[in-house]
Amino acid sequence: APAVEFRDVRFAYRGRGRAEAERVLDGVSFSVPARGLTAVVGPSGAGKTTLFQLVERFYPADAGRVLLGGRDIEALPLDTVRGLVGYVQQDSAALRGTIRENLTYARPDAGDDAVREAVEMAGLTSVIARLPHGLDTELGDQGIGLSGGQRQRLCIARTLLQRPAVMLLDEATAHLDSDAERDVREVLRRVSRRCAVVAVAHRISTVVDADRIVVLDGGRVRATGTHHELMERD
Ligand code: ADP
Ligand code: ADP
Repeated sequence: APAVEFRDVRFAYRGRGRAEAERVLDGVSFSVPARGLTAVVGPSGAGKTTLFQLVERFYPADAGRVLLGGRDIEALPLDTVRGLVGYVQQDSAALRGTIRENLTYARPDAGDDAVREAVEMAGLTSVIARLPHGLDTELGDQGIGLSGGQRQRLCIARTLLQRPAVMLLDEATAHLDSDAERDVREVLRRVSRRCAVVAVAHRISTVVDADRIVVLDGGRVRATGTHHELMERD
């Protein structure tokens, strides 16, 4: 089964004093294969973040269905959803404590082998080896030398330790320079052989290497295809 499937999903934010809430998702259908990198691209306000939040079951869809691994998300226990879906936190400035603590925060039971493997997949083995206390080096406000891109990859490693079936990233490379962006992309390619990766982005140019791009606008899927296919169509 696909990792995620949206079937004619409709959604509007209610309350907040508005009688008639605008429909944010207006019949969205597409599926995310169990492996590979799927990018969801669209302008600000297109409904990308909302899609993620439905996959995390923050809200129920108004109509249509969201399936995880072929099962209706509404029928799954919340703990199961939380285990299957890994959201990569991108506010890396919020990292506190040691690198190890950051990695295992959500999975305190993770063993050394699992930690090593996640660090390796994130391409951080040699970076961490060079730090004064290795995995036990304190992050946070001490200015310990991790770049923005390395912090982002640390967040990816942390989510990997959850062993999710699908990893979600929102504008994962938006604030990075081109070298750091390339490193993050390389890590995501590697991770996408292990689980489904869904990356949201404003600009199609940042997701050229995605296996499949879904163009979302005005709450609808406008096109799907590889970067090459989408460029030929225009
Ligand atoms: P994107 O991630 O593509 O920028 P969002 O899913 O964040 O789009 O937002 C889609 C639309 O839903 C926007 O018009 C936004 O203002 C609105 N929206 C997002 N979150 C909320 C919320 N919590 N309450 C009301 N409206 C919201
Ligand atoms: P911003 O304006 O910086 O995009 P957001 O309101 O989108 O702020 O996010 C605020 C915080 O909530 C951030 O730390 C972000 O990582 C987190 N966050 C946003 N969306 C999600 C989500 N779908 N699941 C979990 N955390 C989220």
